[in-house]
Amino acid sequence: MRAILITNEDEQYRARLTEVPESDLPSGDVLVDVDYSTLNYKDSLAISGASPVVRTFPMVPGVDLAGTVSESTHPEYRVGDSVVLNGWGVGETHWGGFASQAQVSGDWLIPLPDRLTTRQAMGIGTAGYTAMLCVMTLEDHGVTPDQGEVLVTGAAGGVGSVAISLLAHLGYKVVASTGRLDESDYLRGIGASEVIDRAEFSEPGRPLARERWAGAVDSVGSHTLANVCAATKYGGTVAACGLAQGFELPATVMPFILRGVTLAGVDSVQCPTARRKEAWNRLATDLKTQHIESITQEVALEEVLSLAPKQLAGQVRGRVIVDVNR
Ligand code: NDP
Repeated sequence: MRAILITNEDEQYRARLTEVPESDLPSGDVLVDVDYSTLNYKDSLAISGASPVVRTFPMVPGVDLAGTVSESTHPEYRVGDSVVLNGWGVGETHWGGFASQAQVSGDWLIPLPDRLTTRQAMGIGTAGYTAMLCVMTLEDHGVTPDQGEVLVTGAAGGVGSVAISLLAHLGYKVVASTGRLDESDYLRGIGASEVIDRAEFSEPGRPLARERWAGAVDSVGSHTLANVCAATKYGGTVAACGLAQGFELPATVMPFILRGVTLAGVDSVQCPTARRKEAWNRLATDLKTQHIESITQEVALEEVLSLAPKQLAGQVRGRVIVDVNR
């Protein structure tokens, strides 16, 4: 099978496109013919070796995949079923989606929702599924459209783009924070009502700022997250899922103890299956199909190698679908 393979021999970290014998696939009770994967931020970290995402070598990266079951001894999956997989350590500790085949535990799979194709599912990918988890988290904490503006940081990235589209569809007034103001038309096209410069949030700020956000989806972390919390309205919620600016959180407790702000963490990797299914079923209904097209670009398997450093530099817009058979 064709695969991107990461090796780390003699301290030489290397990712390349190669042929791998099927017999090398790791154990698992379901074999999937992969149609598409996607390039997520974590995949770019894995390919570049910029952070220790990959724990065992050799590794096929790709934290998500969509395809068709070709062999199964798992009670819930039969040959021919269309499936999606996100996370569970795939692409980190278990071979992932950047290959024409994947052998995985059936417990990690969910059925592809009826309304989505495997290509659309990977247009959404882990970033989009995480955006949905963030939106569900805001809803769980009672953030409703009538309460005011919701901020999305990292707006032109994968999580940000899908979050904007979902929130706008659900009736929220969405403000997009981006370092790429030249993408304002794109961001308005997928539902942002206002686009602001991320520089507003990037530097150390005050413990409390003017209350503006009813809620926020943050994929950036660091000073940005601290400043977003400081400007969140009384009782509001910030769903935090990412670290594109940095993993540190140089904040004070003031927004939490004086304004009852909630900082809610969102994880997609170990998220329980029932909530995953809910998120994917919501994505199938709450995300406009034409937005999936405007958010995505499609590349061949080998192209992920050159795109990874660009994604880490914040130069990739929206989502990248990877056709693993091309
Ligand atoms: P992308 O690379 O597609 O988007 C990240 C965006 O963040 C960029 O497009 C850019 O948006 C913004 N950004 C980049 N660098 C900086 C910076 N230095 N300061 C401020 N903003 C910056 O990545 P994804 O959307 O796929 O993922 C976003 C984050 O979410 C990552 O950290 C990823 O690891 C995390 N994540 C977490 C998951 C979880 O389970 N918790 C699951 C999926 C992703 P713009 O150009 O608009 O400013």
